[in-house]
Amino acid sequence: MPREVTRTIHGGEEATEGVEPFITPIYQTAIFPYPLDDGKKFRGRPLKYSREDNPTNVVLERRLALLEDGDDALVFSSGMAAISSCFFHFLKSGSKLVLSRDVYGVTIPLAKSFEKYGVEVDLRGPEIEDIIDAIKGDNVLVFVESISNPLLRVLDIDEIASVCREANASLIVDNTFATPLNLKPLSHGAHVVIHSLTKYIAGHNDVIGGAIISDTKTIEGLWQVRTRLGCILDPHAAFLILRGLKTLNARLRISQESAKAIAEYLEDHNLVTKVYYPGLPSHPSYEIAKRLLRGYGSVVSFEVKGDEATAKRFLRNLKVIKPSPSLGGCESLASHPASSSHRDLPREERARLGISENLIRLSIGLEDVNDLIEDIDSALKSASSP
Ligand code: PLP
Repeated sequence: MPREVTRTIHGGEEATEGVEPFITPIYQTAIFPYPLDDGKKFRGRPLKYSREDNPTNVVLERRLALLEDGDDALVFSSGMAAISSCFFHFLKSGSKLVLSRDVYGVTIPLAKSFEKYGVEVDLRGPEIEDIIDAIKGDNVLVFVESISNPLLRVLDIDEIASVCREANASLIVDNTFATPLNLKPLSHGAHVVIHSLTKYIAGHNDVIGGAIISDTKTIEGLWQVRTRLGCILDPHAAFLILRGLKTLNARLRISQESAKAIAEYLEDHNLVTKVYYPGLPSHPSYEIAKRLLRGYGSVVSFEVKGDEATAKRFLRNLKVIKPSPSLGGCESLASHPASSSHRDLPREERARLGISENLIRLSIGLEDVNDLIEDIDSALKSASSP
């Protein structure tokens, strides 16, 4: 029997030997017993330190790889950590990064910070022809989002992937807005898929995380980057994301149905001038969306009749829907892109992207759709007659 002080450290450890939990537990440990013989491997490597690998994360990584039709995956402390790691892995002096103009606002300054290392950053689009025009030369990396924010343009991944293949360029697709249930970019020829797990995949607005899914060799290289940058996901967060992911299909079914009903309702509203939802025949991407997507997602954007002040009054007057710039959770949220996600862009650049000052983005959650419609209607009416 070890002495008292040693018992405070190791006492009872044997009590869980042979226990097999039904649900993946949180492996809350920084270290693992280092295997001194060569035989014991985890993912082809000795499991020794949670900055490198952690079993809770690995279950999430396997699940994401299976969902996206990839060989393997890695999880990160945020969506931005996943994107940063990708840029670190792929870009070198002399590389050209072709970046779609309407990617998530923070991705653009991140990309530009690589210019000081001799990377050319070519902001293109949002039209596909303009992006394709830039895909030529050596060492080209193309970064796009499958569904853009906030106007929900759906990119023809088949076309971009085929141009990338011919030009020997690598294609990274941020698939956060589509989710793997609505689109699997790797099976359309993309090389790498990125997710902000914070959004639909975790789905409860309570955790931040990111992921990269790709082929085995690319993931091996990215594993080195993640280990050196130290931006692996915390296993507590992985546990929450694993739990959230189990209901992705059920959540999406309900929120997409409500989003479509709300988009149709807004199209007929006399205080609304424009509606953007890829499931509406009036959306410019409707035909591509119908061909590529299994579902149209639960984000709806629209322009209120009036100006920026009317849009802000609308946000203030909402009761059930909460003002917040995120998306993909159980709670319905509303945001004003011109003063939140896209506030750092000059006004002319926003105008070029079609992001007007009276634009509102809704992320539809799981509340009763009738309560959401009543909330929107009453906020529109009081915003228009202050
Ligand atoms: N990609 C997209 C499309 C996003 O909307 C976001 C965040 O809003 C990110 C990436 C960044 O993800 P995170 O906030 O988890 O770092």
